[in-house]
This record gives sequence, structure tokens and C-alpha cells, in this order.
Amino acid sequence: MDIKTFGVVGAGQMGNGIAQVAAMSGLDVIMSDIAAEFVERGLEIIQKNLHRGVEKGKVTVETMNGVLGRITASVDIEDMASADFVVEAATEHEPIKFQIFEDLDRICASQVILATNTSSIPIGRVAAHTKRPDKIIGMHFMNPAPVMKLVEVIRALATSEETFKTTWDLAVRFGKTPAEANDYPGFIANRILMPMINEAVYCLYQDVGSREDIDTVMKLGANHPMGPLALADLIGLDTCLAIMDTLFDGFKDSKYRPCPLLRKYVEAGWLGRKTGRGFYEYP
Ligand code: NAD
Repeated sequence: MDIKTFGVVGAGQMGNGIAQVAAMSGLDVIMSDIAAEFVERGLEIIQKNLHRGVEKGKVTVETMNGVLGRITASVDIEDMASADFVVEAATEHEPIKFQIFEDLDRICASQVILATNTSSIPIGRVAAHTKRPDKIIGMHFMNPAPVMKLVEVIRALATSEETFKTTWDLAVRFGKTPAEANDYPGFIANRILMPMINEAVYCLYQDVGSREDIDTVMKLGANHPMGPLALADLIGLDTCLAIMDTLFDGFKDSKYRPCPLLRKYVEAGWLGRKTGRGFYEYP
């Protein structure tokens, strides 16, 4: 299938990163969100990233201008009508995603593949909200999308071989390394990563160590580039909690119970870097 225009629904940290990646591969991109302030912020972040690339000599000014010229911002999901492939990267909340997929299914041409960047929600559950379950797939980028090499590709029960191959090839075209996961809550990446982060929050909750000591132990003791609490702040504590809730609900196994301290922070609006406060402060 010839893909020229790539749609991204959601212009938050993942959506704007994915839009940048797609535009850098030469595709035209439409990036939508629910309000102008969110798409404008998404565009600002892409501009900032590219400027930094130019300063470091990794991106030419021509490339930067070309990439920015290929991205169109929108606050109307109906604009996805012109997309040949869509990735949804909106908030990790089932009702939001289900509504988006019902809308995309109505708006987009019948041959268009609709992918979700969900961190944990089973793809089959999303597919059930469309009349094209064979064209629904998980395309799970890592954060930050322009930097991280991995894309997890998740097929649900009804996903066709053609949908899988097109999505896999697109990840390769984006310069990424795809890996296949089957459709269970959290797939591979967050099935392993998020319980580790949740356990780090338990260590803080039960005063096993300070936030700094917990992160230092995992950085220097396990050679992780970031400590788990700093990583949780980067991912977003709301997203971390949503993933733990999906694992817990999906497997009904107490080993996935979210730490009460994680929930307390989210309820207080301490969502990590994006709100300026999480386990650390970001003035
Ligand atoms: P975010 O909070 O930064 O951005 C979410 C965006 O979705 C916001 O701009 C919000 O306005 C928008 N949105 C909400 N409802 C919408 C709707 N109906 N239509 C269009 N846009 C809507 O969150 P994020 O970190 O970018 O996460 C987005 C998705 O990517 C989630 O499914 C998350 O699980 C997944 N993900 C996150 C990470 C991570 O590290 N944060 C990594 C991989 C995947």
C-alpha cells in the first residue's frame, strides 16, 4: 500500500514525537488533538527538538524546514480523512481510545490501517470498536519516539498479515527496529518495565530508600540509564498508573497491584515532568 499522508491523533509527548519521526522519513503528517493549545505545544516541542538537532550538527537547516513544512496541525479529527495510515496516541484511557477508533472507522477510507500507540490496552478490545478489525494493530513507540529505536508491533486476533507487514515495514522505514508481541495487557515492554517501576514506588512508599537512593541503586547497580522513579516522571505518572490498572484488571493477579503512593500522586495532579512535579520537581 502506498502511504503518503500519515495521521497522528494526540499531540502530547508521544504524538508529537511520532509525528516528527514520520515527517523525518519524508511523509506528510496531520497531527490532531482536542484543542489548539495542545497541538501548538506539540508543534513547539518538534521545533525545539529539531533546533537542538541543528545546533548539534545532526540535522541540517534544510531538513528541519522540510520536516516542519510537512506537518499540518488540526483540532478536527475529521481531517484524518486524508490520511493513508493513522496512529492514535491519545491519553491512556479506554473510553477515549474507543471513541477515537469509532470516529476514525467512520472517517477514514476502508483500506486505511488504524494503529494504536497504547502502552497496555489489548488491541482486540480497541478493534472491537471498529468494522475493520483486520486493519487494527498496535504500533508502540518508546519515549522519546525520535530517539528510541524500538517499535513493538502487536497483532490482535483478527489483524491481517498484510496489516502486520505494512506496519512492520513502516517502522523499518522510520529507522526503527520492530519487535513482535502478542496481544496481552502490557504486551512485552510494559509487562516487564512497569512492575519494576511500580516496585520502585513501593520501595519509596515503605521507606526502603530515598528517591535518590532508589534511582542510584538501579542506575549504578543494574546499569539502567535512568533510575525507575525518574523514568516514571518522564513517562507520566498517570500513564504508569493506567498501565498498572490495565495489567491488574487484565490478569487479576495481585503482583500487578498499583502502589497506593502512585495513585496518591496522580490524584494530586503530580504527573511527573509534564506537570512540573512527580517524584522529583521540575521547576
Ligand atoms: P500525553 O498526556 O503527553 O498526551 C496525550 C494527548 O492526548 C494530550 O495532548 C491530550 O489532549 C490528547 N487527547 C486526549 N483525548 C483526545 C482525543 N479524544 N482526541 C485527540 N487527542 C486527545 O500522553 P502520552 O505520554 O503522549 O501518551 C499517549 C499514548 O501513548 C498513551 O496511550 C500512552 O500509554 C502511550 N505511550 C506513552 C509512553 C510514555 O512514555 N509516555 C510511551 C509509549 C506509549
